[in-house]
Formats: sequence, structure tokens, C-alpha cells
Amino acid sequence: MKLPQHTAFSVFIAALLYMICKSWAISLSCVISGIFIDLDHVIDVVREHGREVNIKDFFEICHNAQFNRIILLFHGWEWLPLLAITAWLTGGNPWVTGTLIGFGQHLVLDAYANSSNFSSYSLIWRWKNDFHFDTIFPKLRSNKYTYGRYLSSRFNQ
Ligand SMILES: [Zn+2]
Repeated sequence: MKLPQHTAFSVFIAALLYMICKSWAISLSCVISGIFIDLDHVIDVVREHGREVNIKDFFEICHNAQFNRIILLFHGWEWLPLLAITAWLTGGNPWVTGTLIGFGQHLVLDAYANSSNFSSYSLIWRWKNDFHFDTIFPKLRSNKYTYGRYLSSRFNQ
């Protein structure tokens, strides 16, 4: 799922949370975590394409799935029980609880939109598959785009 949709869903869920809990902390942490979880794409883009990638190229790389391997450090179901335990141990700290909800809704939406396999969003499962993009996200590998197209189009002009 793309940034505008994640932003809209995160804001919508944060508004619902505010109506239910009357807590700015839960709502704000839900919005922030629900959007900025995607910052882990930066790690994968820099790892595969180098530091010279500008913002426009960054979104093009992500949109066209120009990855050979994909780690997505924050996109893991494994974070949810850790956040839930932390929320419980902190007596329902609103920042932790909001982050749990933000991460959770983002992962569910990504899994629904980007993969036919919910395992794709397991860090352990990706690690077992050597973070190989085509194995993890076969649905995202469009016939139009193949790995290396971005690099060849950028450096062969
Ligand atoms: Zn995402």
C-alpha cells in the first residue's frame, strides 16, 4: 500500500481512537507509527541502490519493487507481541499502545494489499527465505519491471 493510503487510514484510525479514548498520545503515536514504519524502506533502498538516490527515485524504486533482497526491518508481525507485552508491562502507556495500533493496522493493510501470503510480513519468514524479494513478494513483481531496470535507466543515459 502507498503513502497516501497509509496516511488516510492512520488519520482515520487515530480519529476513532481519540473519540474512544480521548487521548492525544494514543492518537498521535498511532498516526506517526502508522506512517513512519515505512522509513525502513530507506535502509533497503540505500543498501541496494546506494546513497545517491533522490526522493523521486526513492519512490520510483519502491513503487516498481526494484529490489533483489528486501529486509523491511519494521514490517514484522514479530513486533506486535513485543509491543503488546510492553504496553501491558507499562500499564497501557498511551504512546506504546498507540504505536502498537499504528504498526498493527499498517501491517494488516500492507499484507492485504501487497501479498497473498501473510508470512511475507514475518521477519523470521523473510530471514528463512534469505530476504529474496521474488520469493517473499511474488505478487509485487510485475512483468513490466525487472530488477535492474531502474539502475540501467539511470546510469545508461
Ligand atoms: Zn508498509
